[in-house]
Amino acid sequence: MKQPALKPNERELIKLIRFFSKRAARLMEEGELSAEHSQLTTACQNLETQLITHATNRSAIMDKRERLLNIIEDNAQCPKCGKADMLKRTGSTTNEHGWKCNTYKCRRCNTGFTWNRPNNPWDMVEFLEMYIGQLQLAIAAEQNEAVVAHTEDAVAQMKDSLNRLRPVLQTSDEEVDALQQKEKEMDKLIHQFKTYLQIEKIKLNAYPEEDTEEEEV
Ligand SMILES: [Zn+2]
Repeated sequence: MKQPALKPNERELIKLIRFFSKRAARLMEEGELSAEHSQLTTACQNLETQLITHATNRSAIMDKRERLLNIIEDNAQCPKCGKADMLKRTGSTTNEHGWKCNTYKCRRCNTGFTWNRPNNPWDMVEFLEMYIGQLQLAIAAEQNEAVVAHTEDAVAQMKDSLNRLRPVLQTSDEEVDALQQKEKEMDKLIHQFKTYLQIEKIKLNAYPEEDTEEEEV
């Protein structure tokens, strides 16, 4: 299995765990593995498994989050020439509604502008809600039946998009919250176990015949 991205404290602990596992293997070869050593090795292996599982889970959740953040495609157009072929994305900014929107430069008109729609699905939900409200007001004031029917179709489509989007975003928010909670627990556990192993290692260093070389993780 490919090793997931590890945080510095996780990498440090795995280094220590590998050191003790190597030592236990050597002791076993020499027939000197005591019950205490064996227990420590099991605890180390369990924690390493737990740590790798957690890091793999974190990578999956954050990858999914990243994909969601980039799900919106702008189809931006230059406000001057109305074309899109010479546009270059220059960055993003927060607009008056508090939504993050992309900024562009049209190289034909040499003009910079902020696209009027959010660049991420969380802000897009608010944008659609506002837009639906405006369209419904327009429908109420409209006399032309064809225009009303057309606008009602558009509103129905947007409501449909919203209904599909909301649960996806909610799931992602919940996953990230749970991950942050788990992260706190793991950090605490890592800290405790690392301190314990470091003390064990200091005790070992009292014996010159012990190999204290550390492997890079
Ligand atoms: Zn232009």
